[in-house]
Amino acid sequence: MKKIALLGSTGSIGTSTLEVVAEHSDRFQVVTLTAGNNLEKLEQQIRQFRPQAVSVLNAENAKILRRRLGQGAPEILYGIEGLIACATATDAELLVSAIVGAAGLVPTMAGIEAGKDIALANKETLVMAGALVLAAVARKGVRLYPVDSEHSAIFQVMAGQRRKDIRRLILTASGGPFRSRALAELGKVTPADALNHPNWRMGRKITIDSATMMNKGLEVIEAHWLFDLPAEQIAVHIHPQSIVHSMVEYVDGSVIAQMGIPDMKTPIAYALSHPERLPLKLPALDLCALGKLTFEQPDGHRFACLPLAYQALEAGGAAPAVLNAANEVSVEAFLAGGIGFLDIPHVIQATLDRHHNHSPEHVDEVLRADRWARNTARRVIDSIN
Ligand code: NAD
Ligand code: MG
Repeated sequence: MKKIALLGSTGSIGTSTLEVVAEHSDRFQVVTLTAGNNLEKLEQQIRQFRPQAVSVLNAENAKILRRRLGQGAPEILYGIEGLIACATATDAELLVSAIVGAAGLVPTMAGIEAGKDIALANKETLVMAGALVLAAVARKGVRLYPVDSEHSAIFQVMAGQRRKDIRRLILTASGGPFRSRALAELGKVTPADALNHPNWRMGRKITIDSATMMNKGLEVIEAHWLFDLPAEQIAVHIHPQSIVHSMVEYVDGSVIAQMGIPDMKTPIAYALSHPERLPLKLPALDLCALGKLTFEQPDGHRFACLPLAYQALEAGGAAPAVLNAANEVSVEAFLAGGIGFLDIPHVIQATLDRHHNHSPEHVDEVLRADRWARNTARRVIDSIN
């Protein structure tokens, strides 16, 4: 039995993770679950998976949950202390980090420091503090498994290969809902338009990131840390069918791709059971029915967030944390109707332009850069309106 701590259990990745666990209940046991505000779903998960402890966003939520569960409830914690306690639970061997956004950094680091292997969906952790995270992973001798489908693809394609034989990574991107929308119309698209992703059902934040392609920008930074390659060896191709999840080009010209239907259960299961593969009840990939797979270059004018992410990666230091925080603030403002779609890259660029870069040596310094960037981005947004 592999014992699992799951942060963000009520989200899209969290729910898919529990589906994999339920399908293989002879192999996995959930010891802790955490959620933000979705108490109804968490309650149902607690009844099904019987964790030792859970954590929710705040004391109020903890009180409500305690009342709903009554006798036989697990230990109910809350806030950042609760998240850390769940991430570091003595019994847990593998921490599945599936909170969205910067809130994932501290508990994920706590899990690493406590010697847990990590299945990482929360890409923001690596974007914000890749150097510190990898140093901690090396120091503690834990394994870091990618859950992001592109990085899982590369991880699978690299099995048995030598890193020095890699010429470049090619991350694929669907291009989201606005891949072929007239550029002049992008300023007018609504949150509902942007939330309508053609291929994947995901949380709101990553769905907007997919529409701007900031998601791919964050993934370029994530790939840089996971696979130790510089920005110029990480390319992005738009592939609207989302069947090829990514590719590695080797020095002899071979390009090896990993394919599958777009379902996160495949990369989640691989992160949970590596190096074994688990059977999953998913529809088979039918390439003949699909007929064709297509690829195109992303347009940096249409998707201005992508070049911004490369710029932040090349700047290094705290620049990716600033990029990430400014993006989170901009996405929230866009979803709330406060700014337009094309204001998102504008706000991020303006925040990066105001930033005096430095190399954080502790997570606290990363969090300080994150707070500075949030305040700055909010001021930029105020100046637009
Ligand atoms: P989601 O919004 O569906 O779920 C987020 C989860 O985190 C929920 O359980 C929520 O309650 C919890 N949460 C949110 N804010 C919190 C906070 N401040 N404190 C504690 N808990 C909090 O998000 P998702 O789509 O599942 O994405 C999760 C992560 O996985 C993101 O980093 C995303 O980039 C990454 N990811 C997602 C997908 C996907 O298909 N959904 C694919 C690849 C990577
Ligand atoms: Mg991805």
